[in-house]
Amino acid sequence: MNDEHSMDNEQPTMRRYVARPKFCQFCVDKNAEIDYKMVDMLRRYVTEEGKIRPRRQTGTCAKHQRQIAAAVKRARQLALLPYIGGTDWD
Ligand SMILES: [Zn+2]
Repeated sequence: MNDEHSMDNEQPTMRRYVARPKFCQFCVDKNAEIDYKMVDMLRRYVTEEGKIRPRRQTGTCAKHQRQIAAAVKRARQLALLPYIGGTDWD
């Protein structure tokens, strides 16, 4: 019997101003993969409400933003990321 309660409430640092990277992180790092299972990575690209952050905030290029959106969408279906009512693909 191992139902240790994992403390799963890590608070992302509340930053009012998000420093925007100048380049798309995925174009910079050619090895970076966008996968729905990479929840920790995807969390950086969604707001606390679970909305996908706009490109102008993350610096992600259109191509990779689309992949992130798809990955987040899939992660939501698998309940890896929170669902929100209205979709807000930017
Ligand atoms: Zn890119």
